[in-house]
Amino acid sequence: MIRALAVVGFKESGKTQVVEGLVRELTRRGHHVGTVKHVRERGFTIDRPGKDTWRHARAGARLIVSVAPRELATIEKRSAGLVEAVRRLRGLDFIIIEGFREFKGIARVAIARNASEVKKLADEFTIACVGVGKRGLPKLGPQDSKRLANLVERKAFPLLPGLDCEYCGYKSCREFGLAVLGGKARWDGCGALRERAVLTIDGKRVPLNPFVQGLIANMLAGMLSSLKGGRGKQIELKVVKE
Ligand code: SF4
Repeated sequence: MIRALAVVGFKESGKTQVVEGLVRELTRRGHHVGTVKHVRERGFTIDRPGKDTWRHARAGARLIVSVAPRELATIEKRSAGLVEAVRRLRGLDFIIIEGFREFKGIARVAIARNASEVKKLADEFTIACVGVGKRGLPKLGPQDSKRLANLVERKAFPLLPGLDCEYCGYKSCREFGLAVLGGKARWDGCGALRERAVLTIDGKRVPLNPFVQGLIANMLAGMLSSLKGGRGKQIELKVVKE
């Protein structure tokens, strides 16, 4: 399970500096860290006009992959939300998200330059403020990466599926998240994220609560166990409707 933290603030408030320091510190501690950056400009592309990849896209390619000696880059010509972007990541301990201040339900650090910004940014999932503080929350400076990393290691939890299935012992994902922040629940306590069964329909992931995951996993394992080669640790099944 990958734990997530959002670093939120208004334009040019110093988010990137905080992200850089935090990524550096978490990496120094041996964690595998990834980042997601929210870009608001509509016409933005990471590609550069005139480059071969740019020309491929202009010709109509929807997916462009560039393979260089020390970098693998994928450019997809379509829009996606934060949930999709995070769910496709693998092999990381933490994902640090720069921006997406409207997104609720993950631990966040609010970077504010005045009281009005703190009021807009610091929600119930805020673990610290940088710059101007809010009562009851630790106030950090932009260079306080060690203190921030301590808080992230203690409080950050994965992006929750929003199923409100109560398997964790809490009535909703929101309550579970708040319990993790308050030190009352473990960050890996969401049963739906254990992935005993994964369902995608037309390429889109459908969240399954732990009960349904268990049903599907047990039913499939039972059905396939009598087949030659039907036993194994990981089963993948693709169904195409006529
Ligand atoms: S088990 Fe996971 S999906 Fe279910 S309510 Fe708890 S946090 Fe939400």
